[in-house]
Amino acid sequence: MKPGCPKCFKVAEKNGNEYICPSCGDVVAQIPATLSIEEQNELLKKVNESYVRIINDLEEDCERYFDQRNRLIECLRFYERLARGREVNDGGRRARTLLAEIGVNVE
Ligand SMILES: [Zn+2]
Repeated sequence: MKPGCPKCFKVAEKNGNEYICPSCGDVVAQIPATLSIEEQNELLKKVNESYVRIINDLEEDCERYFDQRNRLIECLRFYERLARGREVNDGGRRARTLLAEIGVNVE
């Protein structure tokens, strides 16, 4: 079945791998070009490479966030000990240092 133009409601005519509206000339639909086995493999290879890249990036993000989490927990433990008088009051120096290390601006 031939596709119709959504603007003119005319039946589109096939032209190469496109369906063109005979009234307004708009491309109404495109017939996907068929790929050879080699082209399909190349495409799949590229898709696979993209996924590998994405997964690597996510793993790096995970490591970074996990490291930051551990630093923040250690910092909280320090101030918890401070609140119980088991650490010397550093005026927030440890917190400022840690925040700077993980890229948070402290005024
Ligand atoms: Zn049209």
